[in-house]
Amino acid sequence: MACKNCKSHPVIKLTNTNISLCKNCFIHYFEKKVFKNVRKYDLLDDCKTIGVAVSGGKNSLIVLCLLNKLVKQRISKNVKIIAIHIDEGIKNYSEIASKTLKQFCKINQIELKEYSIKNKKASPEIWVRYLLNKKARELKIERLATGHNLDAEAETIIMNQSRKDIERSARLGPITGFQTEKKFIPRIKPLYFILEQESEIYAKIKEFRELKNPYLADSYRENIKKFLNEVESKYPGTKYNIINSFLEILPLLKNKFKTKIVSCESCGEPCSNKICSACKSLS
Ligand SMILES: [Zn+2]
Ligand SMILES: [Zn+2]
Repeated sequence: MACKNCKSHPVIKLTNTNISLCKNCFIHYFEKKVFKNVRKYDLLDDCKTIGVAVSGGKNSLIVLCLLNKLVKQRISKNVKIIAIHIDEGIKNYSEIASKTLKQFCKINQIELKEYSIKNKKASPEIWVRYLLNKKARELKIERLATGHNLDAEAETIIMNQSRKDIERSARLGPITGFQTEKKFIPRIKPLYFILEQESEIYAKIKEFRELKNPYLADSYRENIKKFLNEVESKYPGTKYNIINSFLEILPLLKNKFKTKIVSCESCGEPCSNKICSACKSLS
């Protein structure tokens, strides 16, 4: 099937509509979809400084590239984009990630801040989250964008559901965090409605190199991913349905699980217990 718009050679067939698109029409579709999401949920609000958490992986590079493009289009607004990279010190991975990011930010004239995890015995996942929030706040970043796409969100929803841990799901959605808690920098997900298949093709067209963090191969998540891909191939649109159903119940979840935020007794960072999980991981 040729491209629906211009009859050129297609690069993708959109799963739930059966529409084929060529390279240029797909780029237009993809970027429009991301910008629409940013507008719909007012992800950038009136912020002057937006951070992008970058790992070196394709999804975070797409977010960085598109937010930068969006901000440059609104010249009058004078919004600043800062890329933040937390180096986990992983052999054969971190150096490549850092090099890729430096190159990318230099070409696109984006400020890049890099920090590394000093404490090696603690869980990297906890420390990345901890440092991102702390550093973003110190840099006066008002919102922090991440590369989570529709697949990642659907996997997390199903994982929480399967583990009977829906309290965690109350913290999901296109914009998360605690608007009332100043120490927490709200997280935004510009790729919320983008399928992994779509970001893969977009990254390939834009020649973003795919870097896979070897430590992120969470086997439970991998199984859920496989399961969702199987169902999606038999019943196209399943992933969208999971997300759209979830968005309908999200306000109820947020209302049911209201997290009270306190300051960690050890480091002063915001958390929901007396001691934050980063400090706890050190004891
Ligand atoms: Zn076309
Ligand atoms: Zn702490």
